[in-house]
Amino acid sequence: MDAVGECSLYDEFNYYKPYDVSEINTQAPSEGNFRVGLGEMGLAVAGIVLTFILHELTHGLAMQMFGAKPKYGIIWKGLMFYATSPGYAYRRNNYVVIALAPFVFISVLTILGMWILQGTAWVALLAVCGVVNASGAVGDMWITMIVLRYSVTAYVMDERDGIRVFLPKA
Ligand SMILES: [Zn+2]
Repeated sequence: MDAVGECSLYDEFNYYKPYDVSEINTQAPSEGNFRVGLGEMGLAVAGIVLTFILHELTHGLAMQMFGAKPKYGIIWKGLMFYATSPGYAYRRNNYVVIALAPFVFISVLTILGMWILQGTAWVALLAVCGVVNASGAVGDMWITMIVLRYSVTAYVMDERDGIRVFLPKA
C-alpha cells in the first residue's frame, strides 16, 4: 500500500469513528426503529386512502343497518369519499350512531391492531391510520353536536354535503 492510500484510510477511520460503520451494518434494527423510504411512504399513502374508504363504508353500513340504501362516491374536487342516503329520514339517535360509527369502529380496530402487532413497524402505520380517521371524524362529531340540539323525536336526512332536520308538528 502506498503512502496516499494509507493516508486516506486513516482519514476515513477518523471520520467514521463516532458512528462505527461496521456495527451499524451488522446490528439488527432495534424494535420500533425503521427507515422511512419510498416503500414506507407508499404504504402510508395506501393506508390513508384505505382508511378514508373504510370510514365511508362504515357510515354506509350503519345507514344500511337502519334500513337505508346508501350511495357511495368521490368528490373529485378535494378528493373526498362520501356515503350518503338522500331521501331517507333517520330517527335522531340512529343518525348519531351513523355519524359516530367510523370513529368508534376504526379507532377500536387500529388500537386492537397496534396491540396485536406491537413491536413491529406496522404499529406506526396503524397509528397514522387511526389519527387520519379521527381527524376525518371531526366533521362527524360537529354534525352530532348540531343534531343533538334537536329533540329526540326529530328526523335527520343525510345529504351528500349536509343534513336536513325534520321536526314533528308541535
Ligand atoms: Zn365521517
